Amino acid sequence: MRKVYFDHSATTPVHPAVAEEMMQYITGNFGNPSSVHSFGREARKAVEAAREKVARGIGARTEEIVFTAGGTESDNMAIRGVARANRERGNHIITSAVEHHAVLDTCKALEKDGFRLTVLPVDEHGLVRVEEVAGAIGDQTILISIMHANNEVGTVEPVGEIGRLARERGVLMHTDAVQSIGKIPVRVADLQVDFLSLSGHKIYGPKGVGALYIRGGARWQPIDFGGGQERKRRPGTENVAGIVGLGKALELAVADLDEARFRLAKLRDRLLRGVLDKIPRVRLNGHPTLRLPNHVNLSFELIEGESLLLSLDMQGIAASSGSACASGSLSPSHVLTAMGIPHAIAHGSLRLTLGQDNTEADVEYFLTALPPIVERLRSMSPM
Ligand code: PLP
Repeated sequence: MRKVYFDHSATTPVHPAVAEEMMQYITGNFGNPSSVHSFGREARKAVEAAREKVARGIGARTEEIVFTAGGTESDNMAIRGVARANRERGNHIITSAVEHHAVLDTCKALEKDGFRLTVLPVDEHGLVRVEEVAGAIGDQTILISIMHANNEVGTVEPVGEIGRLARERGVLMHTDAVQSIGKIPVRVADLQVDFLSLSGHKIYGPKGVGALYIRGGARWQPIDFGGGQERKRRPGTENVAGIVGLGKALELAVADLDEARFRLAKLRDRLLRGVLDKIPRVRLNGHPTLRLPNHVNLSFELIEGESLLLSLDMQGIAASSGSACASGSLSPSHVLTAMGIPHAIAHGSLRLTLGQDNTEADVEYFLTALPPIVERLRSMSPM
């Protein structure tokens, strides 16, 4: 059976060139970057070379990059580190209703520690309104955390505008760019952010490694303690192979960006047009134009997304219903709910996220497999 992977927002395969570089630090040099001998020095050199690639990839300085264990840790480190360092100045944090749980739950945990949280609503396309952010800023506000691109619906938020506003008002700004890196341009100067989270496994790099950009001079404190690694900002022996992989993955992602965007958008448009032409009562979720080039989120009326997912899986097609990170839960997606999509419709949602390895033949295979599945499920539907 043909296998088609349309779940690149959940994770991506490791690029062969990334795996090759990593292998040198798995089976080859195993040194600890903190050791002074030649084994250690070689590992240190590899970590610093990767740091340079990550910094260059987002337009930052090398000393502004801290390696972490992934997007979740980067989000935690940014938000909790700002909260800890700015407690004397204020206790108010602004975020949005469509953030990843790595941001939302971290902010909610801070609420229990006495911080005040504003969770901004979004419009029907999942967009945060800049005016609402402006209206929410008060003299106690210390941080705004708004994601760059949404993992469930692909909507790209106006982070540059919000970042500019935050800077004018003297408020720190964090963005989770886990989904946008490698798909649209991500430059810290354009986004005007003080903190930016990224993750390896969404950009054809390894799992369990990521980075946090911390703008030089931004008021922030570490949240973990131990060794002096990462200039005391993130203790623990470095994941050398992972870091090397992240550096290579980001280098490749940035080098291929223009071509990848164009190719993915073309495939995505073919897929979307095909579904809308062939199947009635389907709607596209997320913004019609301000969206990631590889991302489609559809709601099929009268169908359960989970049943659709399982039927597609039986045809070798891997997709996701709502957010893969939250799958297993049958409660409707918090993102679709925040966009005002009725529960019954949200339940019939399917996320298709394309990647480097997808071809036109994959899209055609999907467009042939989908209509009979939808027809069968609808004919059985009690709704
Ligand atoms: N932020 C966003 C927007 C994501 O999509 C994800 C993963 O799905 C994460 C954070 C978490 O990243 P990681 O899996 O590297 O912890």
